[in-house]
Amino acid sequence: TNILNSSCVSKVRVVLRVRPFLPREISEVQPCVSVIDRHHDSEVAVHLKDPLSCRKECYQLDALFHGRDGDEKVRQIFDREVNPLILGIFNGFNATVLAFGATGSGKTFTMQGTDELPGLMPLAMSTILSMCEKTASSAEVSYYEVYMDRCWDLLEVKATEVAIWEDKDGQVHLKGLSSIPVNSMPEFHEAYSCGVLRRKVAHTGLNDVSSRSHGVLVISVLSEGGVTGKINLIDLAAGNEDNRRTGNEGIRLQESAKINQSLFALSNVVYALNNNLPRVPYRESKLTRILQDSLGGTSRALMVACLNPGEYQESLRTVSLAARSRQI
Ligand code: ADP
Ligand code: MG
Repeated sequence: TNILNSSCVSKVRVVLRVRPFLPREISEVQPCVSVIDRHHDSEVAVHLKDPLSCRKECYQLDALFHGRDGDEKVRQIFDREVNPLILGIFNGFNATVLAFGATGSGKTFTMQGTDELPGLMPLAMSTILSMCEKTASSAEVSYYEVYMDRCWDLLEVKATEVAIWEDKDGQVHLKGLSSIPVNSMPEFHEAYSCGVLRRKVAHTGLNDVSSRSHGVLVISVLSEGGVTGKINLIDLAAGNEDNRRTGNEGIRLQESAKINQSLFALSNVVYALNNNLPRVPYRESKLTRILQDSLGGTSRALMVACLNPGEYQESLRTVSLAARSRQI
């Protein structure tokens, strides 16, 4: 019980991932994530510089993954930050990994990856599958999205709504959410890619298509006694958009408000956990209620703040939310 109660268990690490410039951006865009100071091993300082006003802002975070090589960086995040969480789920500790940031900042690249460069989701799945073999366990996955505070099962043939239900002990469940056994990577890719196609995407004025929902992949590990532990891997909706700039109105504006509300609630929960506040405000949003059994308590979590190095305003919003959540 000593280990369970030790305060470091529920701390949420907050790391920064700065994607490289894309080929078409190199000649056109000014970098704004300019200076990076490494303080000591446990902390990095990031400077954001406004290319227009030359205003500089500095933030402290737990780690920084910044550079050209996408493959190597995702691997690094996986090895250093996610692998320890996976070891935990085989020992009964739930885990959550969340990627957040503006549209185009690299959330999906980080979580899902591409055929050539697998992201944290497939890397987690393959590691879990090989650990299952060694420990005579098995794995199951669920995949759902939270859109406008409602939950949709993405593994059903047609995305179906799932009720969020709280039992008498205050535990939150997703009633009837499907969970399918996965024994190999092809099985995983098959299930996951079908789910991705069902995700709601919508047009905004600024971008062709952007994800307006939180996508949650859950990998559970089962042994003879039932579920040992699970990890939630989440590609969060792009939040904190400037609605004047995106030209959002009507339903887009409502979506945007819901997304911002849930990201703010998430940040409040992480802040409360990192500061050992007596009350953790899980009830402030559907997302944080659903994640309650995998955030805080004995669970371990990681937030990956994603930045587009050429977008100052967006980066500022993302990093300040990240730093605010981490602040101790
Ligand atoms: P988001 O999901 O946050 O909207 P994406 O993951 O779709 O952003 O990334 C936006 C674009 O940048 C995509 O074309 C993606 O392939 C590219 N990209 C993102 N991160 C990297 C990276 N680390 N290396 C190379 N390309 C990247
Ligand atoms: Mg995306």
